[in-house]
Amino acid sequence: MLVAANQEGELIHSTRVADRKGDEFSCPICRKRVLYKAGRKRIPHFAHQREENCPGMEEAESFIHLEGKNLLHEWASQWAERAVLERYYDSICQRADIEANAEGRVFAIEYQCSPLSAKRLTERTLGYRKIEVEPIWIFHSNFLKKKGNLLWSLTSSLQSAIRISPSGFPYLLFFDCHTPNTLIMLTNLIPITKELFFGQAESVTFTGKSLPQILDQQARTILFIPEWMRKRESLIRNEWRYQGITNPLLRSFYSLGIQSNLPRMIGIPLRSSVLFGIPSHHWQGYVILDLLDCQVKEGEIRADGIRKRFMDRLRKREILIRDLPSDSISLFTPVEEFMRFLEKAEYLIKNGENSYIIKEGFPIKTIRQEELNHLLVDFFKEENDALWRN
Ligand SMILES: [Zn+2]
Repeated sequence: MLVAANQEGELIHSTRVADRKGDEFSCPICRKRVLYKAGRKRIPHFAHQREENCPGMEEAESFIHLEGKNLLHEWASQWAERAVLERYYDSICQRADIEANAEGRVFAIEYQCSPLSAKRLTERTLGYRKIEVEPIWIFHSNFLKKKGNLLWSLTSSLQSAIRISPSGFPYLLFFDCHTPNTLIMLTNLIPITKELFFGQAESVTFTGKSLPQILDQQARTILFIPEWMRKRESLIRNEWRYQGITNPLLRSFYSLGIQSNLPRMIGIPLRSSVLFGIPSHHWQGYVILDLLDCQVKEGEIRADGIRKRFMDRLRKREILIRDLPSDSISLFTPVEEFMRFLEKAEYLIKNGENSYIIKEGFPIKTIRQEELNHLLVDFFKEENDALWRN
């Protein structure tokens, strides 16, 4: 840790200990004595003696963590009205690496360098939420696992730290203390399966910028539509090959006369997909089946009919929800986003106030790949504009 109390009870930053002869330091949380350690190469710090059971210490701290925390604190001191290193919250028994107050918001910045279970991460997130503190998880860049062009594998802990920007793009933050003043933002994170996400990594120089400025950035153009479509195609091909009609979703489409593929409008990249922990073509496939069912049984498609069917699928766990700390979007948002796309593609036709019918030949009559790509580009642009107007 970087902060300890001296004999007078004042909190001292380890890099500002001037004369340590005879000084004794104690842990501000458990009050036990801590040792001051300073070498030539590594950042000066304090350490508990042996394995003390201190409520503020989740795990042994690495030097990378200590240095990164120090750099992030220096940065926070530039823009925050108040930046406190190693802030301990008694009421929830949690210690944040840095607490920063700015623009009426309180942030708990956590620089995560060692593995932490998704369960523990979510518990800590909820702890901060309870006391109205916004947790900001910043992971060490070693957690970035590239799986292809713009394709990433995210552990369940990373997934549970995904935030949604006010402009609607899901993102994660990374930091490597050896590349100072630079955060890596993985933006437009859209899952194509449970663990695989498409996303764009951007370096953000944070000198002269505040955390709120970085968090509230404008929406970005989605750059990976062709890569996404190729990956989607191979996933669906493999499901037909290895599961075939033993897969309930494929069986339903088989009975509609669709074999060995799925119509191209099923499994498109939508940003709100991040809410669901299943492949995009699965939940979108179910929505298509529900639209058809609604039209056949009720003669028209209304939002409440679709919502009821969708809720049934959630209850039956055909559609699984991902644990996200961000509660800014409702569970029905992805379905609405998908239906807006289908309307744009003229598969859904407005039939009156809040009522739709399906275009004839849907969903078998499919669309050319290039046409779909153009439609998606236009659609994302419109969605971004709409978000910014609100
Ligand atoms: Zn302690």
